[in-house]
Amino acid sequence: MSEPLVVIGNGMAAARLVEELGRVALGRYSVLVVGAEPHLAYNRVLLSSVLAGEMGREETELRPLSWWQRQGVTLVYGRKAIAIDRDRREVRLDDGRTLPYARLVLATGSDPIRLPKPGMDLPGVVTFRDHADVDAMLEAAGPTRRAVVIGGGLLGIEAASGLAAGGTRVTLVHLMDRLMERQLDAEAAGLLKAALEARGITVELGADTAAVTGEGRATGLRLADGRILPADLVVCAVGIRPNAGLAREAGLATGRGILVDDRLATSDPAIHAIGECAEHRGICYGLVPATSPAGRRPTKARFWRPTSRSPAFRSSPPASSTAGRGRRPWSGAILASPPIASWCCATAPSPAHSSTARRATGPGISTSSAPAARSAQCAAT
Ligand SMILES: Cc1cc2nc3c(=O)[nH]c(=O)nc-3n(C[C@H](O)[C@H](O)[C@H](O)COP(=O)(O)OP(=O)(O)OC[C@H]3O[C@@H](n4cnc5c(N)ncnc54)[C@H](O)[C@@H]3O)c2cc1C
Repeated sequence: MSEPLVVIGNGMAAARLVEELGRVALGRYSVLVVGAEPHLAYNRVLLSSVLAGEMGREETELRPLSWWQRQGVTLVYGRKAIAIDRDRREVRLDDGRTLPYARLVLATGSDPIRLPKPGMDLPGVVTFRDHADVDAMLEAAGPTRRAVVIGGGLLGIEAASGLAAGGTRVTLVHLMDRLMERQLDAEAAGLLKAALEARGITVELGADTAAVTGEGRATGLRLADGRILPADLVVCAVGIRPNAGLAREAGLATGRGILVDDRLATSDPAIHAIGECAEHRGICYGLVPATSPAGRRPTKARFWRPTSRSPAFRSSPPASSTAGRGRRPWSGAILASPPIASWCCATAPSPAHSSTARRATGPGISTSSAPAARSAQCAAT
């Protein structure tokens, strides 16, 4: 009998975990993946390319539905896990359903940070983390529109470049005296600034955000020096925070992220955490490192590596989307410092949750009651 393994989060780390399980522990687990976003897992790194109009949403999918079916995984997406009952070994979903587990993997990623300034919750203020954010940006963007992007790190620069590529008039606002100050020296940052300005992006350095202006909807950004930058869209790209709330509420040990040991186990040996939500030896990794999940140590780099697909760093015209698919920037492994799958193989089998999965999602490929939500029930391993 397969052991019921529930994964919370249907992102890049979860997809890689399923791939590894299929490789090294086929049939040992009955895997169910719950994802809050109403899509199949996708390559988040490619959101910049979607924003820049270089590729469609479907092209960012990490794997087609048929692949998940072949892996024997039950997918429940468009649904959020809202509580973990560790005594009963159950996960509760936002539609009231409960999913029993023998093994639980938290792969909840990160939440984008919104500056704690007045007006940040107005419509027209977005972050840059998922397809919904990109949709909101594309809706508010266009040749007659103005956007202000807060944050001169890689994410802010990619957002600014993507919006500018669509004709939006963009101002990039950064608190520090140079762009990407953690990665670039003054000379390199100056070259980057000049390259952005050559694309029509106005760069404001040493600019401290005071508030978003507008009533009912964002109309601009007020800086601490009193200047107001008019905007139809404000993008807040100032950083991310590991999504550890669910674990914290369940009583697991957390710091900035969910604390894990060298085998990615949390303070509860039945629960593991992978990807950006995990904190390993004091470090939360906000990137997709190019190391193999099969036993290599994590890289020490905490910053994103600019890739050839990063719009801000490309000097030649964008490659076609077909060409882009062939050389994905994340073409390594995902956030897998100690072996992602080795702990899975070391466990004893117990009753499968395939019947639970069927209760959770209904038989066959089905449509959930939530409008945007879909569930796919695939064959059990
Ligand atoms: C625009 C952009 C560009 C990037 N570029 C690069 C780059 O060039 N290089 C690089 O190395 N990295 C880059 N990154 C970072 C990279 O995408 C992340 O490191 C990676 O996605 C992390 O994977 P993850 O699975 O841990 O988290 P995610 O991919 O964020 O997946 C977590 C998933 O869990 C879901 N979830 C959270 N809580 C719950 C819950 N309670 N119930 C159900 N589901 C839940 C979330 O909705 C999300 O879908 C970029 C990120 C962005 C946004």
